[in-house]
Amino acid sequence: MVLTEGFDLPAIGCIVLARPTKQIGLFRQMAGRGLRPAPNKNNLILIDHSGAVYRHGLLEDRVRWTLDVSKRAENPTHSKRDHAQISRLVECSQCAALRTAGEKCPNCGFFPQRRPDLIAFCEGELSRVDRQRRVAEAMTGPDERLRWHGMLTFIAAEHGYKPGWIAYKFKEKFGTWRSAQRRAARAVAGSSVMGALENHRLCEGQGTGRMKPRGDKGRLPPFVPLLIDTLDQPAWRAMSHGAQVLYIALRRRYSLNSHNNGRIFLSQRMAATELRSHHKEIGRWFRELQHYGFIVMSSPGCLGVNGKGRAPSWRLTELGCMKELPTRDYAYWNGTLFDPPKHRPVTEKRHTHRSSKKTESRGGKAPH
Ligand SMILES: [Zn+2]
Repeated sequence: MVLTEGFDLPAIGCIVLARPTKQIGLFRQMAGRGLRPAPNKNNLILIDHSGAVYRHGLLEDRVRWTLDVSKRAENPTHSKRDHAQISRLVECSQCAALRTAGEKCPNCGFFPQRRPDLIAFCEGELSRVDRQRRVAEAMTGPDERLRWHGMLTFIAAEHGYKPGWIAYKFKEKFGTWRSAQRRAARAVAGSSVMGALENHRLCEGQGTGRMKPRGDKGRLPPFVPLLIDTLDQPAWRAMSHGAQVLYIALRRRYSLNSHNNGRIFLSQRMAATELRSHHKEIGRWFRELQHYGFIVMSSPGCLGVNGKGRAPSWRLTELGCMKELPTRDYAYWNGTLFDPPKHRPVTEKRHTHRSSKKTESRGGKAPH
């Protein structure tokens, strides 16, 4: 017997609808077996295998019954759902109970959140825009380009980047190559700055009795740049004068154009000639520079295949190497002074060899 109607057990707490029906009357009769009140009963679980609820609506909806045989009973609330006038019924994704779309699940409380839309974005910079939607001149004008070019040049010099890096970064920012920038720079520099430089050159020429060739557009003669920051380092001040001078000789061999940091070499023989010191002292100063973190040996010296000796290559830590940033090892100097290994022959020599003794004392580190 299928208990569709006429079965009275008020304590029923769960109804399993195992058959479909097109009649709202029968649907209500079947589900109604569980709607009778009973002590300690406060809900009814309706397990609807037939999907009748989708056709006839929820049990708590008010039904408009009729005694007219030509008409059918109607669930006006559900009709509105069918005509999309109110939210339709959906299955809860978490517990499979039926819930009204847009409302919390009455069974588990789940409320679906809308997934955030992916927003397409692109890199850009804030700029002032005029009424024609053009970027205002002030942001891209020659002044701004000149300012940027100056900053890029500074960064390149600081990190030892090639001039091409400046050009690419400039293109990235302004969309044009640097040649346009050069024209802009000339336009900004104008006659006043050029005039001042020209005047300065003339004065220099008068002082030395000779003028520089016109092709050399106000460029400085070759120089060895020493960063003040480096000279102010405690490690620099702790070094002997000999090591400092040797460092200048090494720094001189760095070229911004060939970007040869890590491949800088200076043989002891060449350094001895250049600094007019004994090659043993040169060796000690090399070790001292390493100790204080100013130089790092990137490849050791070797005899070479053709029997020709090759000096070790050095990397200066205050400059970038390849695409690496400067390591500035000297800034992390731990305060231990450079203590050259005391070879007995050297100590003996110091008493006999005057010039050697003199240079040792200049270092101020060797014990007397
Ligand atoms: Zn749920």
